[in-house]
Formats: sequence, structure tokens, C-alpha cells
Amino acid sequence: MARSHQIVIIGGGAAGISTAASLLRRNPDLDIAIVEPSTVHYYQPGFTLVGAGTDSLERMTRSEARYIPEGATWIQEAASGVRPGDNRVDLASGEELAYEHLVACPGVVLDWQRIEGLPDTLGTNGVCSNYAPETAPYTWQCVQDFTGGRAIFTQPPMPIKCPGAPQKAAYLAADYFRRHGVDAEVEFDLAAGKIFGVDFYVPALERVAESHGIQVNYQDHLVAVDGANRQATFEAVGEGEEPERVTRTFDLLHVTPPQSPPDWVKQSPLANENGYIEVDPTTLQHTRFDNAFALGDAGSTPNSKTAAAVRLQAPVVAGNLLARLEGRPFPGAYDGYASCPLTTRYGKVLNAEFTYGGKPVSTLPLEPRKERRLMWWINRHGLPMLYWNVMLSGREWLSGHRPRA
Ligand SMILES: Cc1cc2nc3c(=O)[nH]c(=O)nc-3n(C[C@H](O)[C@H](O)[C@H](O)COP(=O)(O)OP(=O)(O)OC[C@H]3O[C@@H](n4cnc5c(N)ncnc54)[C@H](O)[C@@H]3O)c2cc1C
Repeated sequence: MARSHQIVIIGGGAAGISTAASLLRRNPDLDIAIVEPSTVHYYQPGFTLVGAGTDSLERMTRSEARYIPEGATWIQEAASGVRPGDNRVDLASGEELAYEHLVACPGVVLDWQRIEGLPDTLGTNGVCSNYAPETAPYTWQCVQDFTGGRAIFTQPPMPIKCPGAPQKAAYLAADYFRRHGVDAEVEFDLAAGKIFGVDFYVPALERVAESHGIQVNYQDHLVAVDGANRQATFEAVGEGEEPERVTRTFDLLHVTPPQSPPDWVKQSPLANENGYIEVDPTTLQHTRFDNAFALGDAGSTPNSKTAAAVRLQAPVVAGNLLARLEGRPFPGAYDGYASCPLTTRYGKVLNAEFTYGGKPVSTLPLEPRKERRLMWWINRHGLPMLYWNVMLSGREWLSGHRPRA
């Protein structure tokens, strides 16, 4: 007979741990199992600082066991499928797990293989990426070793987690080169048609790129890398035009990989046509399976995929799931909040906060389009503290924000 739990959470990352902790704070008697194979938990927003040499990977890595909330059962395995019609999760070991309620939050996978030649050269030949813990330290090595020439930073088509992270890497590297007198031609090539998804922040960020002398190439996305010959091939994706391939040489190439939900999610009945877990954008309840909820990067909600978004989604899922258990109306509504602390140069951050529809908001009563030292400090020290000590323990602080424009 299948092992059974009242609530099964798939994924013990930012979303899974925050939701479990939030649920258990509300009701310590709940029977919750967290399916999570990893023994370590990363503070992924810190990877940008690892790539910039201002922080170490060790500081961004903690033991998963430390964050499994008291009272929850940790099933240290990977899910390999979900059968929501039968209320079952399949585990990689072949075992199946029965649930009354499901919270699905396994994050997204990094699709390195969708860029031809990339898996063979990533981590060598000046090809680096802040997106994985294995590769972020090499970014810092590449930046330090760069003696001049062309440094290319790429951004694939959306959605990706932390859409601001590719340009953060470019700004910090350009700033480092300038401070060290290195003659660099810095390029930012992005598949999108504008530098940031929220118009309110676009002029300020265009000015930041210009201040660094960065050449921004829109609708241009990386399709192949030849590491040994230091050549990157891009496809220009102008609307209504035939895609055109252009190959450029590089001395440093920082790649942001395309991303998507794990295959078993894409193939499950939980997925929408794009492979993401289809939930109502406000209640975070599945649109077809009432006893299932999803949040975080694998969810279909059209917010910016960030830990900041998860911080506000987790209490909504916890509150709504409990209400369903108790036959009450849903108390929680997610407004699409996300925040992207853009490291515009060493010591300065522009913190872009916004909700659904690209409506700018801010938590602090400060002009959000300004690069600030205070925000650098908050990003470097305050936000990791908020993550490890507040969010992952199910506390719901700093969830208020006010409209800006
Ligand atoms: C370079 C970089 C910079 C970023 N910068 C910021 C930032 O400045 N601000 C910000 O708010 N956010 C930032 N983010 C994004 C943020 O880290 C993610 O949005 C957030 O972690 C999403 O939470 P999640 O729980 O959905 O996914 P994750 O935190 O990735 O967790 C998913 C979990 O699911 C587990 N899992 C995977 N497969 C399975 C399976 N088959 N079965 C069970 N479990 C599974 C994984 O092991 C993992 O623990 C950044 C991310 C990166 C990579």
C-alpha cells in the first residue's frame, strides 16, 4: 500500500520550505511530507555575488536538514511523476506516495543542452554562468583573468528565474574592468526587445548600461558556442523576419541558459501547454485539480520568477490550503509581487519591485529607480537574513508594499 500524507510538498527549495513552515506555524498538527532529494539548500540570489567575487559559495550553501521544519517528514528522494487524478506522486525509487493535498514546487531546470556546444565547454575557455552553484565561482575567475577584448553576456527568451540576473553580471563585470583599467568591449545580448520587462524601470536601466559603455543587442539570442575557438553564434529574432545567424568571437562569455520545468512536470496532467503547473494567478490553486496548489518557478503565474515572489506566495498557499481543509473561503490573494535587486555596480543596487501587469511598487518609501548604497547593503546582508531566518521559518514579515506610479 502507498505511504500516505495529508499534505505532500514536491520540492524543498525556497517555495517548499517556506510553505511547509508557514502551514505548520498555522497548525502544528498537520501531517506534511516534503519530497526533496538534495542534502543542501542554496540561497540562489547570492550566486550573482559569488560571480562578482564579493561573496563565497560556502556562504550561500546550507544543509537542507537544518531547514526542514519541525513536524514535517523529509522524503529524501526525487519525484518522477504526478498522477493528480489518483492523488499519487511517483518517486524515483519506484515507490508511490498518496496525498490528500499537493503543493508542487520543484523549480525549473537549466536547459544548457538547448545551446549547441555549450555543455562541452561550460566552465572552461572563458565560458561561465552565475546560474548554477558549480559554475558561478568560475565567473569570478574569468572576470579576474580577463585581460581585455570582448566580454559577452547573454539572456535567453523568457521565462527565466530572476530575469535581472543576466544584466547584473554584465554591470558588475564592466565595473570591475573599469576599476582595474582593463580595456573591455562589453556586450549584452538578449532575446527580448527591451532591457527589462517592466517599463517603469527601463529608462533607468538603459542609463546604467550606457554609463558602463555596454553595447546592448536586442532580439539576439545565443544558439551555439564553440569554446575552443572562442566563437558564439547568435540568432537575430526580429519580429516577422527570417532568423539570421551571426557568429562573434569572445574572450569571456557569460551564459544564462534557457529554463523550463522538469520533464515529468511537463508530461503530467498538472502542466499547461507551456509545461508550467497551471494555477489560478491569485489563489495559486490548480485550475483543474482542486486539492493541488503550486508556487515558485514551476508555477504558471505570470510574475517574475524570484525568491521575493515566493516570499509572498507561500503564505497565500498556506492560508488557502488550510481554508480548503476547514471548508472556509480562501483568505489569501497573491498580487504578482516580485522584486529584483539589480546590482548596477559594486556598492550600488537599484531595487525593482512590481506586481502583475508590471505595476511598480516599493516596500521602502524611497524612489525605486535610483541606484543606492543602502540597497546594496540590504541585498548583501539583509535579504539573505530575511531568506534564511524569516522566510524559510514561515514568518511573514515585510510583505506590505505600496504603489509607485
Ligand atoms: C543567478 C540567480 C540569481 C537570482 N537572483 C535572485 C534575486 O536577486 N532575487 C530573488 O528574489 N530571486 C533570485 N533568484 C531566483 C530564486 O532563487 C528562485 O526564483 C527561487 O529559488 C524559486 O524557488 P523555488 O522553490 O520555486 O525553486 P528552487 O528554490 O530552485 O527549489 C526547487 C527545489 O526542488 C527540488 N527538486 C527538483 N527536482 C525535484 C524532484 N524531481 N523531486 C523533488 N524535488 C525536486 C530542488 O532540489 C530544489 O530544492 C535568482 C536565481 C539565480 C539562479
